[in-house]
Amino acid sequence: MSDPQCLFCKIAGGEIPAKVIYQDDDVVSFEDINPQAPVHLLVISRTHIPSLDALDEAQESTVGRVVRIAAELARSRGLAADGYRLVVNCGPGAGQTVYHLHVHLLGGRGFSWPPG
Ligand code: 5GP
Ligand code: ZN
Repeated sequence: MSDPQCLFCKIAGGEIPAKVIYQDDDVVSFEDINPQAPVHLLVISRTHIPSLDALDEAQESTVGRVVRIAAELARSRGLAADGYRLVVNCGPGAGQTVYHLHVHLLGGRGFSWPPG
């Protein structure tokens, strides 16, 4: 369920401090330590899933819940009207640095397309 070596499992378990915005039995959200937008939250499952590439069918509902909570947080932060971006980096080429699946919720500014 959790990996004792994993940074985000440690944050979810309260072992490493973070500015936690939301938590329930399955999902935790906290502020990114190096924000790339006025709002930059990370949303994770408590279950340790290393990346999208490691995802299996049994985890579909967990990831669906992570995405739904991200959308709820965006709405509660007033981001929904102007728009916001959810990002999941998968693997080194996409810039994934922490191997515990996480959704970045970015908002409060405009975003260009295609992304860099
Ligand atoms: P990735 O590059 O894997 O998609 O995203 C990892 C994110 O985790 C980065 O945006 C980085 O700033 C954030 N991060 C890394 N270490 C910590 C930490 O100790 N605490 C918090 N709150 N965020 C972190
Ligand atoms: Zn983990």
